[in-house]
Amino acid sequence: MSFLEKLHDISCFIFDVDGVLTDGSVHVQEDGSLLRTMNIKDGYAIRHAVDKGYAIFIITGGKSTGVQSRLVNLGIPKENIFMAVQEKGKLMSELLKSKKIDPEKAVYMGDDIPDYAPMRLVNLPCCPKDAVPEVKAVSQYVSAFEGGKGCVRDILEKVMRVQGNWNEVDPVNF
Ligand SMILES: [Mg+2]
Repeated sequence: MSFLEKLHDISCFIFDVDGVLTDGSVHVQEDGSLLRTMNIKDGYAIRHAVDKGYAIFIITGGKSTGVQSRLVNLGIPKENIFMAVQEKGKLMSELLKSKKIDPEKAVYMGDDIPDYAPMRLVNLPCCPKDAVPEVKAVSQYVSAFEGGKGCVRDILEKVMRVQGNWNEVDPVNF
């Protein structure tokens, strides 16, 4: 099945954080805590997807209450956010079962080696433009946007557009 055909079936998105929802850089503060940067356009698309009833899950090896708050504020349920995950493939298998997610209808977007295993478990694995080569090799779709620079919005918007769920605005009459 082609990428475009698969877009019609998607009802669930699973995103990594560092390098996908962020550009992968962290500002290390004196106390050892880390500051990340997220993208407002990604945020808009996440909120819109939640409003339209899509299921969104977060699986990250990192741990940050700030990241969690931001994502909860965008409408992602706290119980859908998994942090400090050591083995993403294992967690993903459990998640598919416990939340009764149909892998045929799921997108996973990751950028690095820890994402390789969970990506193999879904029908539509994808990645940002600056993902590592191993991840690109198993991605059905490589976004034209980099991590933290709109790749999340890109895949959300593509799915919602083909399903008629995107906020279409008429640029002439807007
Ligand atoms: Mg990552």
